[in-house]
Formats: sequence, C-alpha cells, structure tokens
Amino acid sequence: MTFLKTLFLNPPSYEGFDGGAGSRYQARREVRSFWYPTWLAQPAAMVPGSRLVDAPPRGLTLADVLPLASEYELAVLHTSTPSFPSDVRTAEALRLANPKLQIGFVGAHVAVLPEPSLLASSSIDFVAREEFDYTIREVAEGRPLAEVDGLSWRDGSRVVHNRPRATIEDMDALPWVMDVYHRDLVIEDYFNGYLLHPYVSLYSGRGCRSRCTFCLWPQTIGGHRYRTRSPQNVAAEIARGREYFPQVKEFFFDDDTLTDDLPRAEEIARRLAPLGVTWSCNAKPNVPYQSLRILRDNGLRLLLVGYESGNQSILNNIRKGTRVDVARRFTEDCHRLGIKIHGTFIVGLPGESRDTLAETMRFAREINPRTIQVSLPAPYPGTELFQQARERGWLAPQSPELVSEAGVQVATIGYPELPAEEISAALEEFYRRFYFRPGKILEIVKEMLASREVLVRRLREGQEFFRFLRSREKTA
Ligand code: SF4
Repeated sequence: MTFLKTLFLNPPSYEGFDGGAGSRYQARREVRSFWYPTWLAQPAAMVPGSRLVDAPPRGLTLADVLPLASEYELAVLHTSTPSFPSDVRTAEALRLANPKLQIGFVGAHVAVLPEPSLLASSSIDFVAREEFDYTIREVAEGRPLAEVDGLSWRDGSRVVHNRPRATIEDMDALPWVMDVYHRDLVIEDYFNGYLLHPYVSLYSGRGCRSRCTFCLWPQTIGGHRYRTRSPQNVAAEIARGREYFPQVKEFFFDDDTLTDDLPRAEEIARRLAPLGVTWSCNAKPNVPYQSLRILRDNGLRLLLVGYESGNQSILNNIRKGTRVDVARRFTEDCHRLGIKIHGTFIVGLPGESRDTLAETMRFAREINPRTIQVSLPAPYPGTELFQQARERGWLAPQSPELVSEAGVQVATIGYPELPAEEISAALEEFYRRFYFRPGKILEIVKEMLASREVLVRRLREGQEFFRFLRSREKTA
C-alpha cells in the first residue's frame, strides 16, 4: 500500500509553549517543561515514511518549518484552544509555500469545535474528531475524505461531517510510539521539573473512569472507559525503549490514571522489574498501601497526583471522587515507602473562597508533596466546567483567552465573591507559601548538594521560576 508523504507537526507558537499532544494544561510552564507529542506520534507510527516534527521543544520557528511544506503531500497539525489562532497562521504559511499541500488539524479543540475550526481558514482542509489515529491513517492512504469516518472536511464552501469514528478497543493493535520517538525526536529536549532527565513518556491505555468537570482529555477524546494494552505489550515497548535510549533515566506512564486498574498496574510493575527500569505515573490520591508497596518494590519512583483542593466541598463540586482524609493517608503512605509525589492543585475551582484557598494552601504544606504545580482552572470547550462557567457567568470578560501574549496561563474564571484577579494572585501566593519555608528550602538544598547534575538543573529551574513569578506580577 502506498501512503501520502505525511508530515506530523506540533507547530511553533509561543516561546516555550507546552501545548502539544500529551500536555493537559496547554501553556508555558513555570520552568521549562515539555511533554512528549504522544498523540501525534501514535498516528505517525501508523503511516510509513512519515515524519514527526515537534517544533517547541526543538526551538523551531515558523521560518524553520516552512521549507518542509514542499517536501510533503499531507500535513497533520496538532492544535489546542490557546494556540489555535497561531496554528492557523502556520497552516496558512504552509499552504502558501506549497499550494498542493493537504492540511488537517487534530486535537481536542477541533474535535469539539469542528465547524468553527474549519471556517476559521480555507487553509484547513479537514479536522479529525474523536480518536484520530485510524482516521489519519486512512487519509494518508489517499482515501477520499468523504469515506473516512471521524472527519469533518471542506467541500467547496460547505462543511461536511462524516459519521463518527468508532472508539478503539484493541489497544495492542496500535504500533509503538517508541519507534517514532527513536526515528524523529531528541529525547534530551523533553524536560519536566519533577522527572529525571532524560525521561520518556508513553501511554499504556486511554480514558479515565473519573469525571472531573475541568479535565480535558477524557471529556473530549479519551472517554471514561479505561481501555488498556496488555502488560506484556507494555513491558515489551519499555524494553525496546531501553535499547533505543540507554541514557534514559525514567519512563513515565502518561495514562490519565494508571492506578484505575490496580491489578493490571501491579502486573505491569512486576514485568518491568526484570528490566531494572525506574518509572513513574499519574495517580489519584487513593491507592492503598499494599499496592503502593508492590509498585515501589518494582521500580516506581514518583507519582504525579491530582489533589486539586484540600476542601471536600470543592472536590465534590468538581466530581473528583476523592476524599481529603484518604488523600492524607495515601500521602503519608507514600512518604513512608519513599515514593516521591508531584502534587497538582487548582486554585479558583467552583465553590472557592478566601477560606478554602487558605485551607488548600495549608493542606499542601501539611501533606508536603516533594514538589507541586498550581494551576488556574482552564475552561476548555468540551468540558463541563466550560459549560458551567458560560451558563453561570463565571467567565471573566476581560480575559477571554486562556493564556497571555507570552503563553502563560491567565485567570479566565471569577466569581462575585472571588474575582479572577484574586484567584490569579492566589496562585503565586500558593507557590510562595509552599516553597519559601525553611524545611522545604533545606530539602531542596540537600538534594542539590547530593548531585552536581541536580544542582545545575535546580539552579536553572530556580531562575526560571523567579522569572515566571515576575512575569505573572507584570501581567496581573
Ligand atoms: S482523575 Fe485525573 S485524568 Fe481522570 S478525569 Fe480526573 S483529573 Fe482527569
């Protein structure tokens, strides 16, 4: 079978913008961070002869990627709500450089808003809705667009919506992203403050059983059933990863919640043990001690844990399905077992008040994850939070965009009793109160003194972090 010569592009946008596939909050981070473009790598693995270009982590500009236009017949661009206007400009420039180039967009934004996305520019020929892996493969096979499930496309001035693409059930049938990483990416480009460097991330399954109202991927593309690859298949891909990248220090499972299926997570861990790899994953703060111990004994180093809030009513409001007391116990268990935690929190969720902000900041200091990330609620189209915010008048009129001109998250939600500006200020306050404590500073200094590599890295991140706080002061 022949395929169109296909370019998969995570386009250049804001400097340092982590908006590509795999990123949950599409914005420039506090410190230089990039997730892997796994959602683009997956269809790239299904289209022989294709190439994946991840512009932001490589530092590529539009001028750098434009010459590629003439080398390809099909370009698939990953977009997001904050980067969409900039991604449209990239598509238009590519089309100008090669008028014959067929251009399609993928990502949650176009999956939810296919028609307005297509109408935004005549340079976008199609957008893919739902899970787009097989959809893109069929377009790359050269099938007529009218025959490809899951596509919305332009037929002259008309937008046509084909029937939906069926959800993927046989996850083991998907080829490995590791081969595409090896072919097209430089793994040293990918950083995350709390992961060892270099790291490699991948998915062992898609979908999340939880229904958190703010969360993008399960509500747009992944769905609420956790569809998984077999532990054998996962372990074999990790083994391949080790062969390709002997320098890798850590593998990260980017599944929404790997611990949603504990017997399976434990089996994966046991299969990874003989490989001697260090790994980490996303988790909810409710994993029992026994399972934590099995995971730790088989290579688990760190959990990325969505606490979101230390107030139970807020957790209920956002349908998190977790309890504050269980989260406390879970965190103590992790400390006891030596499992590190990167805890994520959101300030300004529905029901937030000055009191609950103070309660959550106190909670974070008390449970003391090793590192934290504090975000603002991002009402992405397609999420229940977006719907609620629109219906209840929470969207701040002065901040219609999700990110600033520099690509940094801005507060777009506010309440009569807690305006958006105050929520924005609470984010900085949260970081200061958590990190600027003698105990925490000592912890970081000790870690820095233990290794020169960590010392250099933390000094760079420290500078970036202070720059981030200063840039927020200016935009506030
Ligand atoms: S548990 Fe995590 S991944 Fe799942 S819906 Fe909630 S925030 Fe999203």
